[in-house]
Amino acid sequence: MKIDGACHCGNITYVAEIDPDKVGICHCTDCQTLSGTAFRVNVPAAKDAFTLLTGQPKIYVKTAESGAKRAQAFCPECGTPIYAAAASDPQVFNIRVGTARQRTELRPKTQGWCRSARDWVMDLRPLQQFAKQRTT
Ligand SMILES: [Zn+2]
Ligand SMILES: [Zn+2]
Repeated sequence: MKIDGACHCGNITYVAEIDPDKVGICHCTDCQTLSGTAFRVNVPAAKDAFTLLTGQPKIYVKTAESGAKRAQAFCPECGTPIYAAAASDPQVFNIRVGTARQRTELRPKTQGWCRSARDWVMDLRPLQQFAKQRTT
């Protein structure tokens, strides 16, 4: 499936070819911190299937629990996370699904690092819902 995406300010744009069955959630504590929220939704794209069209992301390299060095790419203007990849010679780009225009169709199929998942995240449905800005 072809997708295209952009950061919030529009500086960075990309196109990619992905498998929608590979969309997954990551509940790891690094994703919680780096996203500023409870979990992250990613989809991998092979190197040849990911093309940056405009902009140059800023890279922050983190060391994963496995010891692997992971480049976290984000827009230097607005801070939107765009992808993660190996710090050297990346073969796969893990695209942050929230930046894809087609995100409605990109439903997660799996979730990883559930040991650090926030317990409430598995059951959001009972929470009071507002169509727009909540008033409480
Ligand atoms: Zn931006
Ligand atoms: Zn993670």
